[in-house]
Amino acid sequence: MDADVLVVGCGAMGSQAAWQLASRGRSVIAFEQFYPGHDRGASGGDTRIFRTIYGEGPQYVPLLLEAQRRWRELEEISKEVLLTLTGGLMIGPENSEFIRNLRACVQEYQLPHEVLGLDEARRRFPQHRYLESDVVILDPQAGYLRPERANRAALRVAAQLGATIKFPSEVTSITATKGGVEVTTDDGRYRAPQAIVTVGPWILRLFPEYGRYLSPRRLIQPWFLADNPEAFAPARFPIFCRREEDANFSGFPSIDGGMVKTGTNDTYESDSVLDPDHLSRVTPLADLDRVTAQVTTYLNGISGPPARVTNYADAYTTDLHSILGWPRAGLPVYVMAGYSGHGFKLASAMGVVAADIMIDGTSSLPIKHLSLERFSDQSSLGG
Ligand SMILES: Cc1cc2nc3c(=O)[nH]c(=O)nc-3n(C[C@H](O)[C@H](O)[C@H](O)COP(=O)(O)OP(=O)(O)OC[C@H]3O[C@@H](n4cnc5c(N)ncnc54)[C@H](O)[C@@H]3O)c2cc1C
Repeated sequence: MDADVLVVGCGAMGSQAAWQLASRGRSVIAFEQFYPGHDRGASGGDTRIFRTIYGEGPQYVPLLLEAQRRWRELEEISKEVLLTLTGGLMIGPENSEFIRNLRACVQEYQLPHEVLGLDEARRRFPQHRYLESDVVILDPQAGYLRPERANRAALRVAAQLGATIKFPSEVTSITATKGGVEVTTDDGRYRAPQAIVTVGPWILRLFPEYGRYLSPRRLIQPWFLADNPEAFAPARFPIFCRREEDANFSGFPSIDGGMVKTGTNDTYESDSVLDPDHLSRVTPLADLDRVTAQVTTYLNGISGPPARVTNYADAYTTDLHSILGWPRAGLPVYVMAGYSGHGFKLASAMGVVAADIMIDGTSSLPIKHLSLERFSDQSSLGG
């Protein structure tokens, strides 16, 4: 055997898995087809939102709190600034699932928060244009992460703890072998008792059967010029997530003193990306019109169309929750896939889950809602 664990793919999840495994004394070989901190996968684009009051459901709160602790731990060890808290405004209609979930998070976990009346919201955060039906909740533990820097920092720390990070090194096959698993790359074959696969939107290349539950999709990230950049500085403009009938998008304060980045949360069939290697970085004009309409409808002081825009891909599952599990009987490979546009903030907790599973076969973190078994036709799977 060449290592205790092989990690295939070193973006958000793989870099954290490598760090956690190495920090628990396991020997690790991790493979990355590009290079640490690259921007070609789901982790590209400068910033990612972190929040703890979670519109996707209260079941995530313990994972988010664990993630927050681990991001701070990684900052401490790596001496890098990775998570900046700005607070976060969650805005949506009272009767929406989004707001119901936010309320459930604060009630079940007693999370610090403020519910702002519309007059107060207009006074404190005039950059938003509110609807009379809106509920506004401020999450003081929200902010933004630096994804490329975080991935690179986790891999650097993992390497300092003894992990081998191989790059550029594309894994082209993963097979069961006597007592474990063998992966093939362009420079050789490597064996270990177990492997973690964290290849983001490339998952169908190694595990085409995941096409039943997910598809790689394009997400547009536009940066808009602010009329008055001061009004969008991190101290005055918290990150936000907004769900309205005609808009589902998020945004960041201006961290370069000029532009405000937003992100669409919706994806469409037309956003399906057959091969993430051939994802076009050029955004069609019709899509620019769509994102510009959202932003100029709901934000004051932003001029469209965007000054900068690019596309990245993430793997989207049919229920928008990621999939963790052992997909093939007899193959000791644990796959973590399908983070559906909201996985980055969780990555540091997912590294803990990966290490727990590899070392103890189970994790005390609540991940049942993410299990592969939730897809009913998976009853025969296991490994
Ligand atoms: C535009 C956009 C905005 C987003 N905004 C947010 C946000 O604000 N907050 C949030 O929490 N989440 C957000 N997300 C989601 C989050 O970034 C992703 O869910 C997360 O990065 C997924 O991590 P991953 O490890 O699965 O994939 P990736 O980070 O893409 O990592 C996969 C890695 O595997 C490597 N790889 C693939 N195949 C192979 C192979 N065969 N051999 C070796 N290496 C391989 C790739 O090169 C890559 O480095 C956003 C996603 C996108 C695309």
